[in-house]
Amino acid sequence: DSEGRLSGPYDHRPRHAQTSASMPSAQFKVNDLVFLPCPEGKAEEGPFLSGVVCEAPESGDLVVKVGKAQQRVPASNLRRRFIRDDGATCQDNTALVHLNDATILENLRARHEADEIYTYTASVLLAVNPYHDVTGLYGEAQCARYRGKHIGALPPHPYAIADTAYRALVRDRKNQGFIISGESGAGKTETAKIVMEYLGYVSGSTNQMTAQIQRRVLQAQPILESFGNAVTMRNNNSSRFGKYNSIFFDEDGTLCDASVTTYLLESSRVVVHAKRERTYHCFYEMLSGLPDEKLKKLHLDRAKLYLLLANEGQASATQEETSEEKRFHAQFKDLDLRNFNRLCVALRDVGFSEEDIDLTFQVLAGLVHLGDLSGAERDDDDESATIQLDEETLQKAAELLGIDSSELGSALRRRKVKITRVGRESIHEVPRTTLQFRHALFSLIKALYKRLFERLVARINGSFSELRKPATGEEEVERCQIGILDIYGFERLQRNSFEQLCINLANERLQQYFVENVLTAEQNLYRREGLPWTGLTLPDSTPVVTAIACTFKTLDEYSQQLAKGFEKTSDEGFCQKTVEEAQKDPQRKEVLKPLKMSNKRGSSAGLAMNEGFIVKHYAGQVEYNTKGWLDKNNDRLLVECEELICGSECNFVRTLGDDEKSKVLFRSISKKYSADLENLLKTLNQCHLHYIRCFKPNELQKRSIFNDNLVLDQIVQCGTIELVKIMHDGYPNRCVFDELVSRFRGRFPMSA
Ligand code: ADP
Ligand code: MG
Repeated sequence: DSEGRLSGPYDHRPRHAQTSASMPSAQFKVNDLVFLPCPEGKAEEGPFLSGVVCEAPESGDLVVKVGKAQQRVPASNLRRRFIRDDGATCQDNTALVHLNDATILENLRARHEADEIYTYTASVLLAVNPYHDVTGLYGEAQCARYRGKHIGALPPHPYAIADTAYRALVRDRKNQGFIISGESGAGKTETAKIVMEYLGYVSGSTNQMTAQIQRRVLQAQPILESFGNAVTMRNNNSSRFGKYNSIFFDEDGTLCDASVTTYLLESSRVVVHAKRERTYHCFYEMLSGLPDEKLKKLHLDRAKLYLLLANEGQASATQEETSEEKRFHAQFKDLDLRNFNRLCVALRDVGFSEEDIDLTFQVLAGLVHLGDLSGAERDDDDESATIQLDEETLQKAAELLGIDSSELGSALRRRKVKITRVGRESIHEVPRTTLQFRHALFSLIKALYKRLFERLVARINGSFSELRKPATGEEEVERCQIGILDIYGFERLQRNSFEQLCINLANERLQQYFVENVLTAEQNLYRREGLPWTGLTLPDSTPVVTAIACTFKTLDEYSQQLAKGFEKTSDEGFCQKTVEEAQKDPQRKEVLKPLKMSNKRGSSAGLAMNEGFIVKHYAGQVEYNTKGWLDKNNDRLLVECEELICGSECNFVRTLGDDEKSKVLFRSISKKYSADLENLLKTLNQCHLHYIRCFKPNELQKRSIFNDNLVLDQIVQCGTIELVKIMHDGYPNRCVFDELVSRFRGRFPMSA
C-alpha cells in the first residue's frame, strides 16, 4: 500500500448495493462464458478469471473450465460474460449485454488498449488516462466535428459533453456544471482543460474582448499549475489545491466573463516534501529559467541544491544522498525550462507587468533563502543560547523580502512571552528552542507562499473583470455560467493528516451529492412516474460528514486554546476528546473509531491511541495522524512574523501582510474550508451537472499498462456499478411530454 492505494485487493462480496454480480444458478447453461473471482493469493493476476461452464447441475456448484483446469464454483460467484462476434467494445457501458463489474472492466480494458479512452455510462463519461498523446483526439478539427452533434453520434468525448452543456445553456438558459473526479493522476486537470478548450472554441471569438477573456481563461491554467502543482509519487504534475473555474456567457451564448475559485492549497509542501517528490514547480522553474543576471540579483545559484527544494532529510544528508537527490531533480530540468517560459508568457497574458513578474520571483527567491536557514541549530542544553543563523543567508532573505535583517533574526531567535508578576505584566524575550525556531520559520514561509498564491488567483480574477464592459448603469445583462470543478480526489496515503481529512470531506460531500442528485433522484423519478422499480440500497455519507463536522468543532476549540497560550492544550487531548465524543453517538461511532480497535494488523505505523483515529469513508478506511493539527488549523501567523511582513519596505510584500486590527490569535482553517465547500455545493445546486470520472490505469504513469485490480477499485469506489445498474434497468432517455410535442411537432408526417 506504499503508493497510497485507496483500498486493498477488491473483495468480491458486495460492498455497497447488491449489484447484478451474482445470479441464480438456474440461469447458467453449459457453454456459457463466465468470469469468476481470482482465487486468493493470486490477486496479482487480476480480480477475475474467464472461463466456460462445463456442468450446470440443477442445484449445487457449477463446474467451470478455466484454461485447461476445471473447478467447482458456486453460481453466486459467477458473472456472465459475452463476446461479440465482431469483437467490438461498447461506447456506453449500459449497452453491455451482461452488466456486472467484470464486464465493465473488460470493456474499459479493451477500449484502453485501442486508445479509445472515453466510455459513457449513461450520462456519465468515464475517462481512462492514456498517459500519452493520442493522435488526432483533440484540437480544432475535432471540436468542429463534435459541434452540434447529438451525444452518441460520435465516439464518447469530453467535447461531446461540453457541447451538450453549452447547447443546454443557450437553449434553456440554465447554469451547467462539470464535476470531474478521480484519484491523483487520473487525468482530472487535463480533462478540465479539454472541456475548457471546447467551450472556448464553441462560444466563438466574435470580438476582441471575448477572444481576450478566452485567452486569459486558458492562460490562467499554467500559472495555477506552476504555483499550485508539484511532482508527487503518484503524478508528476499533481494539483495540490482544488479549483472551480466558472465561465460566463451572455444571452446569445458569447463568452463574457470568467472566474476561478481555489480551495485549500497544501501549504505544508512548501517547507517539507517526501523523497522523490518536489515542492511547487515555480521554484525549480525560476532556477532553470531566469537569466543569469537576474539570478545574480536574487543571489541564487542555479546549480545549488537549496533546502527548500530538496527533500526533508537534506539538511543532514550524506554526499551520496545529495547526489541521488540531484539526479532526481535533473530529470525535470528541460521541462522546468519550458514551463518557465510558458509561465512568463501566461503572466503577461493575464496582465502582469514586467515589474510584477520580477517581484513575484523576488519573493520566491526570498523564501528559498529563508528555507536555507532551516538547518540551523542551537545548543538546547544552554538555556540562554540562541539559534546559530548563517548571517549571509539571513541577509539575502531579508533584503529580498524588504525586511530588516536584524529584526528578522531576532524574531526567529527569540519569542516574546508575557509574564505577570505581582499583578504587573511585562514582556520578556526568551530564546526559541530549535524546534520552536523551525516552527516559526516554516510558518513564515508557508504563510508568505500561501498568500502569494492567493494574490495570484485574485490577480487572475481581476484580469477578467478589467476586460468586461464598464457597467452602464443599466440592469446587468442576464448571464449564465458553466462551472468546471477539478478537485483533489480521495486520498489515503501512508501518513494522513489534516489536509487529507479536508480533501476526503470534500469527496464525501461530492459523492453524497452524486448519490442524492443522480442515483436517488433517478429512483424517485421512477417511483413518481409509477414505473416498476425495485430500489437499490444506496450508500449514505451523512454519518461520516457529521463525524467530520464534529471533529472540526472540537479542533476549533482546542486550536483556539492553544493560540491563547494554554499550556496544557495538546494534539493528544484533541484526539482523545474527538474519539470520546464520537463514541457517545450511535451513528458516529460506527464511522469514527479509535486506533486500537482496528489496529490488529499493526497498520498504524506505531501510533499511540491518542495520536490518531480512523474514519470509515465511502471509498475505504483511512487512518489519520493528528500530530500538529491544532496548529495546522490556525490561519494566523505568529505575531512577531506578521509584524515583519506588515513592516516590509517592499510594497508588494507588505500587501501580503495581514494586520488585522483586533489581533485575533486564532482563525479557523477548517471553518473557512467547510464554508467554502458548502458554498461550492450551493453553486453546483443551481447547475445542471455533468459528471466525468477519471481513472488511472496504472501506478507507473506509463502508457499501455492496464492494471485490472487498480481500475476495478476505482470503478467500485465512484459508484459506477450502482449507476450502471440503475441506468441499465432503468430508462435512460426521457423528455417531458409537452416539450416533446413542442420540439418535434410538425417534424414528422403524423399529426402530434
Ligand atoms: P489529476 O489532475 O487527476 O491528478 P492530471 O490531469 O494531472 O491528473 O494527469 C496526470 C498526467 O496524465 C498528465 O500530466 C498527463 O501526462 C497524463 N494525462 C492525463 N490525461 C491525459 C489525456 N487525456 N491525454 C494524454 N495524457 C493525459
Ligand atoms: Mg490535477
